[in-house]
Amino acid sequence: MRTAAHAGSKLMSSWLLFLAVSLISTGNIKASTLHASDKAEARGLSVKAASGSIPPGGVTMVDIAAPDEWPDARVTEVRFLGRPFPVYRTGRNHWFAIVGAGLKVKPGRHSITVKWRRGHASDLTVSALYIKRKKYPEEHLKVSRKMVDFPPKILKRVLADQKAVKDACNRVGREKYWQGPFIWPVKSKVLSPFGLRRFFNGQPRSPHSGVDLRARDGVPIKAPNNGRVALARECYLSGNTVVIDHGGGLFTLYAHLSKVKVRPGQMVKKGDVIGLAGSTGRATGPHLHWGVSLMGMRIDPQQFMALSEKHFSNL
Ligand SMILES: [Zn+2]
Repeated sequence: MRTAAHAGSKLMSSWLLFLAVSLISTGNIKASTLHASDKAEARGLSVKAASGSIPPGGVTMVDIAAPDEWPDARVTEVRFLGRPFPVYRTGRNHWFAIVGAGLKVKPGRHSITVKWRRGHASDLTVSALYIKRKKYPEEHLKVSRKMVDFPPKILKRVLADQKAVKDACNRVGREKYWQGPFIWPVKSKVLSPFGLRRFFNGQPRSPHSGVDLRARDGVPIKAPNNGRVALARECYLSGNTVVIDHGGGLFTLYAHLSKVKVRPGQMVKKGDVIGLAGSTGRATGPHLHWGVSLMGMRIDPQQFMALSEKHFSNL
């Protein structure tokens, strides 16, 4: 029995190796992932990412399944890029985790490590997720010196705002508030994409940490899913800013609101109006700056929404 399974997995390996080689020759970068997940299955636990590769700022879902003969199996941790991502059980022998990568991650092969227990035994299953290279577009702007250099008093305020937002997005709770697919906070067009590399007078600024959505002054902004208001603050640069905690290290951020309709600590439901669009703070005109943060890393809202539409219907 053992030998047959072993031979089978060996046959599978050589087939995958062939597939990997043919993919490499056609320039597909997912090749190494296929080989790694095959190894994971041979050990009993199956670990599959919805996409074999993601760009920096990307996000994917990892499905974990234990064989039927392992009713006592428990997945205790999913680690990627050195940090633990919350893992949720969806069935007797099924779990999932949403994993993502910040913009600063190095392209190449990275490990997804799944820690699991069975009875008194515990083990690790390692799978691979490839970070592919992506060159985000650049934008060069000529602005007045006043826009680039802040006087000390303003700089102090900007740094305090940034710390408050960062702290809010780092308060990771295990409880999952979100349910099913996310909805767009406003149905409109993306005016400026995530990751845009901005230069002011030739000097690089931090890349765009969210998307700018077209929204006229006063347009209602909706909570994209259930959650708890983690922050509502008037910031110097991002104006009236709201952060919603959706649980499990997943947060969404709303900036430049003309009016805030929620208070910190308040629970919100998918579709609730959390504020009105505007141009408070430093904005060239009314729009919604929308950010998604996962385990303290800013990820691409458009990619997140694509993942949500495809995979979140039963979660
Ligand atoms: Zn923006």
